Amino acid sequence: MAKERGPCVFCEVVAGRAPANVVWENGLAIAIMDIAPMRPGHVLVVNRRHTAAVEGLTAPERDNLLRVGDAIGRAQRSLGAHGVNFAINDGRAAHQTVPHVHLHVLPRRRGDVPALIWQVLCKPVRLLLPSSRTRLQAQAARIAAAMPLAASD
Ligand SMILES: [Zn+2]
Repeated sequence: MAKERGPCVFCEVVAGRAPANVVWENGLAIAIMDIAPMRPGHVLVVNRRHTAAVEGLTAPERDNLLRVGDAIGRAQRSLGAHGVNFAINDGRAAHQTVPHVHLHVLPRRRGDVPALIWQVLCKPVRLLLPSSRTRLQAQAARIAAAMPLAASD
């Protein structure tokens, strides 16, 4: 469920007050590993400035989100992904669970639909038992090393 009160988890990550496995960052966004990945290598590109909805983004923020997401997707493909889902859940009815704009970059492989469906069904459990930080950090480092953007570009 989305938290309506208390600190926003992504604002806490942006401020460095909450742990995250950072893949890449620039002045407008920070890319982190999803702690409950739908597939291995699932990255979230989080807009640095808090805004709940896509319509609240400035034009540079909106463009940056897709530019960084595209670079993450290219890195994921270079590491073996056959395709990439780019998704923004905008609004509670669209299953947005954290009301702070973020772009999901989900690496896909041919034939992974059953595994993806299983992960969707198990998401409540996975949020209680998040992935190993060590494994997520290793994935973040591999993706970061394959990024086609210069640092802080
Ligand atoms: Zn926030």
